[in-house]
Amino acid sequence: MRLESTPELEAFRRKVRSFVAEHAPGVKAHSGVRAPDPGLMPAIREWTAKLYEAGFLGIGWPAEYGGRPDAHPLEPFVVAEEIARARTWPPVGAASLASAALIDFGSTEQQARFLPRIRTCEDVWCQLFSEPEAGSDLAALRTRARREGEEFVVDGQKVWTTNGQHADMGYLLARTDGDAPKHKGITAFALDMRCPGVDIRPLREITGTTDFNEVFLDGVRIPAANVIGRVNDGWQVAMSSLGRERSGVAARGVELFAVLDDLLGLAEETPVGGRPGLDDSATRQAIGELAARVHVNAAMIGLAQSRMLHGTEQPADALLGKIFFSELNHDLADFGLRLQGTDGLLVEDDPEAVAGGWWQDAHLYSRAYTIAGGANEVLRTQVAERGLGMPREPRRPSPDPKA
Ligand SMILES: Cc1cc2nc3c(=O)[nH]c(=O)nc-3n(C[C@H](O)[C@H](O)[C@H](O)COP(=O)(O)OP(=O)(O)OC[C@H]3O[C@@H](n4cnc5c(N)ncnc54)[C@H](O)[C@@H]3O)c2cc1C
Repeated sequence: MRLESTPELEAFRRKVRSFVAEHAPGVKAHSGVRAPDPGLMPAIREWTAKLYEAGFLGIGWPAEYGGRPDAHPLEPFVVAEEIARARTWPPVGAASLASAALIDFGSTEQQARFLPRIRTCEDVWCQLFSEPEAGSDLAALRTRARREGEEFVVDGQKVWTTNGQHADMGYLLARTDGDAPKHKGITAFALDMRCPGVDIRPLREITGTTDFNEVFLDGVRIPAANVIGRVNDGWQVAMSSLGRERSGVAARGVELFAVLDDLLGLAEETPVGGRPGLDDSATRQAIGELAARVHVNAAMIGLAQSRMLHGTEQPADALLGKIFFSELNHDLADFGLRLQGTDGLLVEDDPEAVAGGWWQDAHLYSRAYTIAGGANEVLRTQVAERGLGMPREPRRPSPDPKA
């Protein structure tokens, strides 16, 4: 029995597990949140739609759009964990973020138009927030949207857009009032990614895969009916929807146990000083320490879930969980690579690479988790200020006099 679990929740877990075993589109070749190869997209769209149809996604949505508001609050976590346990593809795109914005701030007409298409996965969404000069300081975004009659005309550039190359719709933040203080003049939009003027340029990353994109917006016309929430209220819309997405962290706990298992297998097969790595005391100690951290990570997730259920969440729970997970995830991959000695230098495509180069890719990708969802350096400051009540950092001079 897991912390905070119940017989009903465990029965739900068994149901999800057998559903995943029957319908999932195979094992994901790489670690992390990756954009699928284009050839895989039809199968992953179908898989995502099946998860909604079975009632395993969109659980907290209003009942008229297929949600089950009376479900146990930990059900979304169970689903994410079972998908991670099977090492298969999670639902594609930023639908959970976009749907949170649409449900909390969208008009009834927007909900009726967009939510059913998310459930059928006819629309894959991407998140168009970050810009070259606006990442940690998101409110510094410069993409402009100016009103022209019943439309907004958008010019600017986004970057880091995960799955942008596959997306049908974008959840866009753009500046609609250049004179307002920087958090106040931003508006959230639903953007049809096939509009004229949207130019999606995939980026090839150090891993050799293409998970992110640059998105250039040049005179893009968005109907005013696609404003999510009120004009100039986009900061509130964005912060609220970002704060709603929590089930991903549960999946990450499961992922780390799987990587730990793989590490044990690797150490068993890899000679260190002429004997199996598992017989080498330094290797055993290093793995023991990593194993202890994997269990601490799981305990932190359980504690955060427990506090969530009892309404006693602490401001630093999510921040600490993200920092601890991302650094441990890096250290596991790093040790897997070191264990291989000089073979660790082989690249993923090399036929001699251990496990097809999985460790090399995982190591290179692991930095992404220390940045995504807030760079760890920035989160540490937030832990100090929000979690420990330390005085706020003095504001740095801003190049924008209105900021
Ligand atoms: C895997 C992944 C997926 C992503 N997907 C998306 C997506 O789909 N859509 C989207 O909009 N964005 C996405 N992002 C972007 C992500 O939100 C940004 O990378 C993040 O906000 C950091 O911004 P930045 O990269 O511009 O770094 P910067 O903000 O430029 O930071 C650079 C460095 O400076 C440090 N730093 C910055 N400010 C401070 C400070 N105040 N104190 C101390 N240190 C500081 C940071 O910690 C970091 O080390 C994704 C990122 C990753 C890694």
